Amino acid sequence: MELKFDADVESFRAEVSTFIRENLPDSIASKVAAERMDLPREDQQFWHKKLNKKGWACHHWPSEYGGQDWSDAKSYVFEREIALNNAPRPLTFGVGMLGPTIIEYGTEDQKQRFLPSIANGDILWCQGFSEPNSGSDLASLQCKAELDGDEYVLNGTKTWTTDGHFSDWMFGLFRTDNTGKKQHGITVLLFDLKSAGVTMTPIITYEGIHEVNQVFFDNVRVPVENCLGEHDKGWGVAKYMLGLERFGTAEVSRSMASLSRLKKMAKNIAVDGQPLISDTAFSAKIAEAEIELRALGITEQRFLFQPGGADALGAEASMLKVRGTEIQQRIYELMVEALGYEACIALSSDKYDTAAARMPADMYGGAAHMTRAYFNFRKTSIYSGSNEIQKGIIAKAVLGL
Ligand SMILES: Cc1cc2nc3c(=O)[nH]c(=O)nc-3n(C[C@H](O)[C@H](O)[C@H](O)COP(=O)(O)OP(=O)(O)OC[C@H]3O[C@@H](n4cnc5c(N)ncnc54)[C@H](O)[C@@H]3O)c2cc1C
Repeated sequence: MELKFDADVESFRAEVSTFIRENLPDSIASKVAAERMDLPREDQQFWHKKLNKKGWACHHWPSEYGGQDWSDAKSYVFEREIALNNAPRPLTFGVGMLGPTIIEYGTEDQKQRFLPSIANGDILWCQGFSEPNSGSDLASLQCKAELDGDEYVLNGTKTWTTDGHFSDWMFGLFRTDNTGKKQHGITVLLFDLKSAGVTMTPIITYEGIHEVNQVFFDNVRVPVENCLGEHDKGWGVAKYMLGLERFGTAEVSRSMASLSRLKKMAKNIAVDGQPLISDTAFSAKIAEAEIELRALGITEQRFLFQPGGADALGAEASMLKVRGTEIQQRIYELMVEALGYEACIALSSDKYDTAAARMPADMYGGAAHMTRAYFNFRKTSIYSGSNEIQKGIIAKAVLGL
């Protein structure tokens, strides 16, 4: 079932779809269609700039900052068309997290300095929250920022920094006071990653991809005017940002696109001379995943189009995140199952292209990266608040436990 919207929303859907088809280069779309996790900076920036020129990159920002004041229905349709047409999203950390937070908490000077370059995708941002001993219990973070005149001096480390290696600036949480409750004494700072004393080491994940990093600070100096929100009171700012991050993590539209690739694979892969899709046991597994995804899609629509819309989401966002990531991971499991032993070959980087070459031509891009994506997407039930933490929220807010 696909919800039908009013004529103006449906004609907007067609406009978005046409815009993507006319403007998104095949070289980028094919990487997204291949489930590649390592989309280069140039590709992300190129597409972001295209969307921004059209006025769509920051559509959810207030209109005085370049937003579009779209209805929830239009935002929903936009997200869906982006996913179904294999387009990257606008730059997430800047546009999705930092921009709205600067609009909410920033000074006038910060709005002037940072918002235009975020909107235009000139400066890429990364998120410096987690530390080696502070993830779920984020308020226990210990990376220090000490005031010295009109500068903060940073010492310590941040980890799991996604895309840090090709980002320009970081927004991070730093410990500015250790005497009170752990939520007190946290300050949000914005700084250039080229500042003296910042070093970064790659973390290569199991599937061989460089997506995350550990960042070290050795007496890094940050001007006080780069403090976002109040000194020592960054926990409220952080919670605001994390609320923005959780929205959209159900990934229904992306999973729909992945599911259609899975079906294509199952049609193309032959087992004993027959397409895998004709294997009733395997096609039943696909059908089960599709039913669950459709049910989640309807639940998401029910939540999003309730009175108050997306802004009224509370524990519902946690439910969507848990179920959405479970289904997403299930689809990748089925892709690996469909690939069979080819999946093992694909994971070994030296034989990776060989495995790709053995796939039927129209499956290259549809299959070669699946094994890596399978391992990579184990992350989705960990980041943005792990699924165990989300279940804790549901238990408390919904069940009153
Ligand atoms: C691929 C990837 C990219 C990431 N990108 C970024 C980034 O860009 N910036 C950034 O700041 N961080 C990033 N993170 C970090 C992410 O936010 C943390 O990994 C996450 O918050 C979990 O923290 P942790 O890894 O320290 O695990 P822990 O908090 O140590 O948790 C370990 C396990 O214990 C469980 N657990 C912990 N506490 C509870 C509890 N109270 N109840 C029940 N179970 C519990 C968890 O669910 C998990 O299964 C990324 C992580 C990954 C994997």
